[in-house]
Amino acid sequence: MTNLGNSFKIAVFEGDGIGPEITRPTMDILKFASSNYDGFSLDFEILPAGAGHYRDTGTALPKESMDRARAADAILLSAIGLPDVRYEDGTEIRPQVDLRFDLGLYAGVRPVKVFPGANCPLSDPRAKDIDFVLVRESTEGLFAHMHDGKVVDDQYATETLRITRDTSEKLFDFSFFLAQQRASEKGRPGKVTCVDKANIFRSFWFFRSIFEERAKFFPDVAADAAYVDAMAMWMVQRPWEFDVLVTENMFGDILSDLGAGIMGSLGLAPSADIGDDHAVFQPCHGSAPDIAGQGIANPLAMILSAGMMLTWLGHQNASQQMIDCGQSIDDAVTRVLAQKKGLTRDLGGQLRTEECAIAVLDAFQSDGSEGTREAS
Ligand code: ATP
Repeated sequence: MTNLGNSFKIAVFEGDGIGPEITRPTMDILKFASSNYDGFSLDFEILPAGAGHYRDTGTALPKESMDRARAADAILLSAIGLPDVRYEDGTEIRPQVDLRFDLGLYAGVRPVKVFPGANCPLSDPRAKDIDFVLVRESTEGLFAHMHDGKVVDDQYATETLRITRDTSEKLFDFSFFLAQQRASEKGRPGKVTCVDKANIFRSFWFFRSIFEERAKFFPDVAADAAYVDAMAMWMVQRPWEFDVLVTENMFGDILSDLGAGIMGSLGLAPSADIGDDHAVFQPCHGSAPDIAGQGIANPLAMILSAGMMLTWLGHQNASQQMIDCGQSIDDAVTRVLAQKKGLTRDLGGQLRTEECAIAVLDAFQSDGSEGTREAS
């Protein structure tokens, strides 16, 4: 990492499809934050990678880009992948998945909350209280050997699921620390729920037994466990009861889209992939090739991911200004949605990408937390 004092190097992958369209206005908001908030500055470096880059050069993630991303303080990644650009074996170009492996980003953080005015499909009045975080293990599980799956004699196919003690311990500790942090911010007790299939698979029994071991080190946080099939049902029936859910890679992949569905649009779902030394922040959605180039993509998931990045950098560097700034971006999005000012088409409005981002920038600029900002 290259952090010099309070200056942070941010590696940016604009990606494919709607990627560049949602990255540019997000960087405008971050640049405003960098020049108007005390205590930190951001220095951006845009790096080539993606399906388009693979089509043009034969390489999806150049070594030079990887080296520079590794040297950065944080990585902001838009959406990568194009359905018609694939490797020779037919699989999609997904360097963002390789990044998780290369950088050891074991904790995939997917916040699920219902913003006021968003199209939550649940009609129960308690849906407004939904506010939980799904932590998806992102370096092993069913993705551990994803390039080694076999089809044998055109008769059967096999894939391997791998759970390790080392990664599971770090994953669970991360989840308990997150629950502690949320408990102190929200002034209520924290809870972590392990989501698995321990009744059927040895690997998940192992996963759960490690969870139970680690839970003993966090007596202030409640711990329980659920089977993934039941959890899929409860996420629809009573999602307001959850705090932190922690699960295996494939289960987390599926449940995080269910979470995005609860939020009302994939365009509102941010994420962070965090490891011991690096972190990548990106929206949960893909490159949306069906609407690319039209200027109508919702930039909010990308903007919220950028806010998560500032909050994470703030915690890493004990900078309350950065934590507050990240929270202010979240608050600005909340206000824009509550006033129905920033609704793009996926949310039932007519705003274009740029107009939505400007509404957030306006709300951010008029943010109430003047105490942390320089007079401007
Ligand atoms: P991936 O597998 O790469 O995550 P995906 O197959 O889930 O991608 P997306 O690219 O996320 O597909 O798109 C799914 C649908 O959601 C598409 O109809 C797309 O237009 C829409 N969508 C995704 N992101 C946005 C966004 N930011 N704004 C508006 N619509 C979006």
